[in-house]
Order: sequence, then structure tokens, then C-alpha cells
Amino acid sequence: MPFELPALPWSEDALDPHISARTISFHYGKHHATYVKNLNGLVEGTPLAEKTLEEVIRETAGDASKAGVFNNAAQIWNHTFFWNSMKPGGGGEPTGDLKSRIDADFGSFDKFKDEFTKKAATLFGSGWVWLVDNGGKLEIVQTTGAGTPLTTSAKPLMTLDVWEHAYYLDHQNLRPQFIGAFLSSLVNWDFAAQNL
Ligand code: FE
Repeated sequence: MPFELPALPWSEDALDPHISARTISFHYGKHHATYVKNLNGLVEGTPLAEKTLEEVIRETAGDASKAGVFNNAAQIWNHTFFWNSMKPGGGGEPTGDLKSRIDADFGSFDKFKDEFTKKAATLFGSGWVWLVDNGGKLEIVQTTGAGTPLTTSAKPLMTLDVWEHAYYLDHQNLRPQFIGAFLSSLVNWDFAAQNL
């Protein structure tokens, strides 16, 4: 059973103007779709073709001879998680248990926002910034390239893609503007709370 491109959780123009339909058409329709096509080509006829996506990611992590498989598999998983980390009319502050946990582990929501913004802005080159639950403590972690917390013991709650393809058509080189839009208008705290 080949790996499949999951449907988006909203329509392509739903995040406009923060992320335009044109960006989604490339980011989802070309980049995400190509990772799926590449992975299927790489694993066809091998035992990896019978595994789940998560199994492929965990079994190929750190294996230089399987770097192509890992990169494409992890990028499929990361992007699906990223789409679910956003919703139209998202952003602002979380509520309930997640809010209490953020206040406890970062000091306040504003301090969380400052650290998330800084880590997303200073990640050099292509990668991801994640809110994770690391053994009961919420933390913000960076991964480069296709790196993903799935290969660690930390549980991902939400993520932001800071590869240039995520924002260049809408924000050009202004990555901080994209991070600000994500936090103020897009982040799906309900999804993050479900993952807690
Ligand atoms: Fe991406």
C-alpha cells in the first residue's frame, strides 16, 4: 500500500492573507506531494514499503545509507503535522490545561511567545520549530532539515515550518513577519491541546 498525501484540514485559501492559496498550492500541492512521490519510489519493493510512516521514520533515523528515505518520510509527517497546527481564525492564547502548563513552564504566555519567536527566527537555514512535551515539561525545540521530534522521547504538540518555501511568496525574506502571523492568527491551540 503506497504512502498517501493526506487531505488538508481546510481549503487552500483558508489561511489567506497570512498564508496565501498560492503558497499552499506550492507547499502542499508540490513540496508535500513530492515527498510522498519520492518516498514511494525509494521504498517500492523493499520491506519499508510495508511499514507505517512513523515506523519508517524511526527505523531510518541516523542511518546515512537511508538518508533519502528518512528525509522524505519525515518531511511527509512534519508537513501533515504542520497543516494541523494551523486553522483559519487561529492564534492568540490557548486555554485550560495547556495555558496553565505554558504559564508554569515558560513563566507566562508572553515569555513563551518570545522564546518561540526567537527560536523560529534564529534557526539557520531550513528547519522546524516545535512545542513539545518532554517528559512532563513543555519545551520549544528546533530541528534542521527534515529533523523531527518523533525520533526523540519528546511528544510534539505543534510545529511551524520555517523553510523559505513556507513563507517566501507571501512574506519574502521577512521570516519574523511570518512567525508573528502564525502566532497571532494561525496557530491551532485545540490541536496542540489534543496532543498533550
Ligand atoms: Fe515545508
